[in-house]
Amino acid sequence: MRDFITVAIDGAAASGKTSTARRIADKYKFLVASTGSYYRAVALKMMTTDINIDDVSAIQHFLGQIVLGSKITGNVLNITIDGKSFEEKELRTQQVNKNVASYATIPEVRQCLLPYQRSQVSEARTNGFRGLIMEGRDITSVILPDADLRFFLEASAQERLSRRENDWEHDYIAERDKIDIGRTIRQDGVHRIDTGTNGLDAVVAMISAEIDKILPT
Ligand code: C5P
Repeated sequence: MRDFITVAIDGAAASGKTSTARRIADKYKFLVASTGSYYRAVALKMMTTDINIDDVSAIQHFLGQIVLGSKITGNVLNITIDGKSFEEKELRTQQVNKNVASYATIPEVRQCLLPYQRSQVSEARTNGFRGLIMEGRDITSVILPDADLRFFLEASAQERLSRRENDWEHDYIAERDKIDIGRTIRQDGVHRIDTGTNGLDAVVAMISAEIDKILPT
């Protein structure tokens, strides 16, 4: 049994990662890190600063100047850039939804966010949480390959699209899938969960069953 654990979740857009991670974090007193919001914040900042996506030296200069920080609200860790935090609605505009995946392909952007994401394990520990649950695309493979538990959430493109439509959000799911596909691959040894056939309660129960094996109640 352990006193602190790390849980990594990957999956495509609208596969249920964020809702699942938040439910698990509430249940077990974990800190939750939704890494898509970090890519969204960096993309937004680059767009508003007029950084050309093809201008490598401007990108390097920009990334070298910005200071990434964290603001914990309840059990959610939000990114700050140069001390500024971001409203959820700022990060989910059509412009960000449409462009974020392209910005996320920039190697310098990924490299910049890598140590930031990894540092959140100690951030969770020092702030008294019993674990860190981090969700995104490359968490089980690149960011936290040695996480105590790793899950991959799957649902059909049609199912994921209708979820966003139910939220009245135009999220460019098909376009993002094409760009994200190479990063959104289930690794060996990662628990696969179908969120199309299993509702949120069932998904939470499946993940909880694994957590309960290693974390005392
Ligand atoms: O999770 P969310 O849909 O908000 O992520 C927005 C975008 O950020 C994704 O479409 C993907 O391009 C990028 N992303 C990524 N790696 C992560 C998390 C998100 O490339 N770990």
